[in-house]
Amino acid sequence: MTEERGNDSDDAEPFRFETRSIHAGQEPDEETGALMTPIYANSTYVQDGPGDHRGYEYSRTGNPTRTDLEVNLASLEGGEFGRAFSSGMGSINTVLNLLESGDHVVASEDVYGGTHRIFTQVYEDYDLEFSFVDMTSPDEVSEAVREETELLWVETPTNPLLNVVDIAAMADLADDADAICAVDNTFATPYLQRPLDLGADVVSHSLTKYLGGHSDVVGGALVTDDADLDERFGFYQNSVGATPGPHDCFLVLRGTKTLPVRMDRHCDNAREIARWLDGHDRVERVYYPGLESHPDHDLASEQMDDFGGMVSFELDASLEETADVVSETRVFTLAESLGGVESLIEQPATMTHAAIPKEERVAAGLRDGLIRASVGIENVEDLKADLERAFDSALR
Ligand SMILES: *Cc1c(COP(=O)(O)O)cnc(C)c1O
Repeated sequence: MTEERGNDSDDAEPFRFETRSIHAGQEPDEETGALMTPIYANSTYVQDGPGDHRGYEYSRTGNPTRTDLEVNLASLEGGEFGRAFSSGMGSINTVLNLLESGDHVVASEDVYGGTHRIFTQVYEDYDLEFSFVDMTSPDEVSEAVREETELLWVETPTNPLLNVVDIAAMADLADDADAICAVDNTFATPYLQRPLDLGADVVSHSLTKYLGGHSDVVGGALVTDDADLDERFGFYQNSVGATPGPHDCFLVLRGTKTLPVRMDRHCDNAREIARWLDGHDRVERVYYPGLESHPDHDLASEQMDDFGGMVSFELDASLEETADVVSETRVFTLAESLGGVESLIEQPATMTHAAIPKEERVAAGLRDGLIRASVGIENVEDLKADLERAFDSALR
């Protein structure tokens, strides 16, 4: 498994993933020889005559730093076309811009909270309809699809219970329905999972997470192989204007160069923590697709090159005791978000998923004792000792 992370054996690309992450879209500057893509801090560009420009007119429409990032991201996903946005929500919004009133969308029932919000609190007002189903069951998805279904919105692994959805099966169902299959690949990253190779039409990212990797930038991206879709994404990117600035693009490019080495360590640390928690007498249950006891372990092993850096687990503890545990850790920082080099910890019931009414939340398996950890790349012994100390001081 380790040798081929990020690389498919029949990969047509001339270079493997680790090489592309550093070099794709990263030619030295022609004029100055600057090795790294400069931060082109421009809103506008000189024209040699009216309409006679050198490829760039205005930075909402296009910016050279952004172009290099878009080329880099497309290459990592094994896709032809990339588009960068000012946030992951900006990229999700752009996919929804493809739809018309009356259209219907089928989505994972445990999609990212912001995705649920834009679907139900923004686009339902534009007469789009959304069905949220358990996407680990292709039958349920198939039953939810109807004549008006134009989009299947897939997220895998899911948040925070880390269920795994069969991307190829979803792409087939979308094909049969003449709908677009879009996959939010934020949790896995292209290093571990490449939805386009599995038949998806569009990949969406929050660059804020693993691709940026250092908790210092917010961004989003879409990648596709479909030239028509890309042209429409470009139209909405320019028309709606949720575009990233060149400084943001520079930071994400800096992040993608080390994505493979960071992800290797995230995966190794998360696996070690998951196994350790699994054998811990304070812990009721561990959610990590890399554990053989995980219900989707076989599918995850097939679909992903490794199992990622997110681990969720449940304590036999009250809401308050669990809040104390996540407040007591010192290496794990109490914060929302994920995917940075530093470990973060949070309590879904009171933080990321607090907006869900308690009954619904518990029915969905998000109990009071649930903790979600974004396992960073620190020394794993320090991470385990930190959790042990927090358990000891917060739990009687
Ligand atoms: C964070 C996140 C988003 C939203 O991205 P932003 O960059 O915060 O706008 C979308 N999907 C998933 C899975 C996320 O984790």
